[in-house]
Amino acid sequence: MKALKPIVLFLSLSLAFSCGDGNEKKEEEKESVKIGNTETKKQSDDSNVARIALTGNDLMQFNMSEIKVKAGQQVVVTLRHIGEQGLEVMGHNFVLLKPGTDLAQFAADSGAAGRDADWIPNNGEAVIAHTKMIGGGESTQVSFTAPEAGTYDFVCSFPGHYSLMKGKFIVE
Ligand code: ZN
Repeated sequence: MKALKPIVLFLSLSLAFSCGDGNEKKEEEKESVKIGNTETKKQSDDSNVARIALTGNDLMQFNMSEIKVKAGQQVVVTLRHIGEQGLEVMGHNFVLLKPGTDLAQFAADSGAAGRDADWIPNNGEAVIAHTKMIGGGESTQVSFTAPEAGTYDFVCSFPGHYSLMKGKFIVE
């Protein structure tokens, strides 16, 4: 019977240890809940970011003809090509133009700039922000600070697309 004693001692020790572990885990859980709450708060305080979910399809259509943001706001435009046609035949991008830019002229310049320039003319001198050109199934993103209040044009600069793929970017 004497030989059992160390085993009992060992068992009660390990029980004590496992209880301790349990408490520590609870502490950790409390901590992560706190962190979780902080993160949630951060997201709800994130009102100074405008997240725009733009799509383009195989019919040369954006899903939006108007985008509204506030001056000075951080803008994140995510462009998703929901069609199937490739970059070479049905490329789409999002290009926000500086005020006073003539759309027809910009489109002509884009065509002249060619594929090597990703259809962005004159190193983007008429452009406030733009994404890269993407094909069917792809997505891309651009982040920028909203310019001063006003109404701006956005287009897809792929040759021939601007007549259908354009809209107003309104900064309030
Ligand atoms: Zn396009």
